[in-house]
Amino acid sequence: VSAAQPITTLISDFGGVLTSPLLRSFAAFQDETGVPLEALGQAMQAIAVRDGENPLFVLERGEMSEPAFLTAVGDELETILGRPVDMRSFAERYFGSLTANDELIEHLRGLRNGGLRLAMLTNNVREWEPRWRAMLPVDELFELIVDSAFVGLRKPDPAIYRLTCERLGVATEQCLFLDDLEPNVEAARELGMAAVRFVDNAQAINAMDALLPTPSAR
Ligand SMILES: [Mg+2]
Repeated sequence: VSAAQPITTLISDFGGVLTSPLLRSFAAFQDETGVPLEALGQAMQAIAVRDGENPLFVLERGEMSEPAFLTAVGDELETILGRPVDMRSFAERYFGSLTANDELIEHLRGLRNGGLRLAMLTNNVREWEPRWRAMLPVDELFELIVDSAFVGLRKPDPAIYRLTCERLGVATEQCLFLDDLEPNVEAARELGMAAVRFVDNAQAINAMDALLPTPSAR
């Protein structure tokens, strides 16, 4: 980061960063439905082999509806498990065990009050927008939200990072990117952003603070 381009903007992921760990929500789905996570992975892989792309990627770009996705996965699970699997309640179960990461959200609020600009860049599902929006004060915290399902692009495609910067009117070098998935973090770094891979709150907050200018310098 050069002196001419200090970091002015934090771009944060949603799932697994601003929420409880996603694995906990998948585990709840497994416990409540008896569908092993391994089978869920196998079903996605089988569809990926057949269709040429992971169906989750297609869903997250908004090119497939959530009901169509769940039907396809349910059909595949039926083949794998040898019994009918009704996936229609997936979102309800998934979000039912997903909670807001209040400690990190409070930290972001403090950063924003100190003058840092905040944006959210999420790979998400179009139909889930009301669910995740209800979990945290998104519009109060973030001046911009870029949701993969509404822009037809998903992380780690560099185009969605560039779109986010364009909408913010900032250079990639002025951004600090926060995400729990390494490929997404790597893509941000390749574009010139400072980036932190979220593992837990203490680690992520320390790593961000080390990269951010002091509030008086912003
Ligand atoms: Mg995530």
